[in-house]
Amino acid sequence: VKILVLNSGSSSLKFQLFNGNELLSLATGLIEQIGEQTGHAHLLCTLPERKKEEIKRTLAIADQGEAISVMIELLQESGQLAHLDELSGIGHRVVHGGESFHQPVLINRQVMATIGELIPLAPLHNPANLTGIEATMDQAPAIPQVAVFDTAFHQSLPPHSYLYGLPYALYRENKVRRYGFHGTSHHYVGKAAARFLQRPFSELRLVTLHLGNGASAAAISQGSCRETSMGMTPLEGLVMGTRSGDLDPAILFYLARETGMSLNELDQMLNKESGLKGICGDNDMRTITGRIREGDRQAELALDIFCHRLKKYIGAYLAVLGGADGLVFTGGIGEHSAEVRHRACLGLEGLGIQLDPEKNTLPSSGTRAIHHPGSKVSILVIPTDEEREIAAQTLNLISSFPRP
Ligand code: ADP
Repeated sequence: VKILVLNSGSSSLKFQLFNGNELLSLATGLIEQIGEQTGHAHLLCTLPERKKEEIKRTLAIADQGEAISVMIELLQESGQLAHLDELSGIGHRVVHGGESFHQPVLINRQVMATIGELIPLAPLHNPANLTGIEATMDQAPAIPQVAVFDTAFHQSLPPHSYLYGLPYALYRENKVRRYGFHGTSHHYVGKAAARFLQRPFSELRLVTLHLGNGASAAAISQGSCRETSMGMTPLEGLVMGTRSGDLDPAILFYLARETGMSLNELDQMLNKESGLKGICGDNDMRTITGRIREGDRQAELALDIFCHRLKKYIGAYLAVLGGADGLVFTGGIGEHSAEVRHRACLGLEGLGIQLDPEKNTLPSSGTRAIHHPGSKVSILVIPTDEEREIAAQTLNLISSFPRP
């Protein structure tokens, strides 16, 4: 069994090849600057017993179709895949499944048409995802392909969580509602937390925090997502690397009136020039914590704002769930920044959340518990692995549709 996972962006293609039912990672790769004069392709063999063999290429790659061909060449050259026919399935990450997709689906013409219809909800991502699917369907028509949606895990939100306080007709007619993102990651770390705690996922109440460049929180109970912080788009919720997260919507009217900023400028400002970057000029948490160590006050302020918002969401989601069994940190920041975890949990002892300062700062890259023995809530750090989860869901789905 070999499963290939693809994440197609507008000018990039990320891929990872897995082997066997245990989904051992064989190789990962990235093709960038697709459509530009010079593109870059890179593959790394990830088998633990092999030395980390790398292949790099610089060449013009006109479109996703050519990127797929380059990817196949690299996989063949690495010796990890002799022929496309060796693949049991291909899993595609698709950002927006709207209300149409509650779980992964086997891709056919109808599914592709629906992903296309959802483009207005994700104008940057869905077209690129769809182009990637079309290119692979062209080159590997006989291989079953599965779409795994970032929004699917959040489709279990009840109406009182997913509806905004807006005229209801906007939901009915314009699909305005909370969809939530990072669903594959929240689902993956939720299940991993259950395994770690040796409890059934269906019996746990969990608050999961995915803190990467984009950041989101989720409240999970009985194996389903009940609330999440990203909204109709990934802009809502936590303060992020370059995105503002929550704000008073009237700020936009005020800015448009006072400064004459256009819709595009406001969009750019909220998505690309706000968040940590807007406050202190840097969006990378490593740089920010480094600046703080040198006494930089503006970087300190950015981290304070980031962690304060995070703490507000933890409190809110404890209320949504009526208490929690576990609090899970994941994503680049959640996995690696002891400082962020410390600040987010500080003062929450009254809510049953108590970090163990030593366990929190112990260097480790694996799944671990970092709470004090007296903490009511287990506090876990769990490295996310969205590609593996997409591979697992792909394998699971194709196993139920035997190949002719
Ligand atoms: P993406 O959302 O692009 O997948 P990641 O999940 O890789 O991003 O997270 C990127 C963030 O993680 C960056 O802000 C980066 O600074 C932060 N990060 C990575 N390693 C560390 C570390 N050792 N300490 C603090 N922050 C870290």
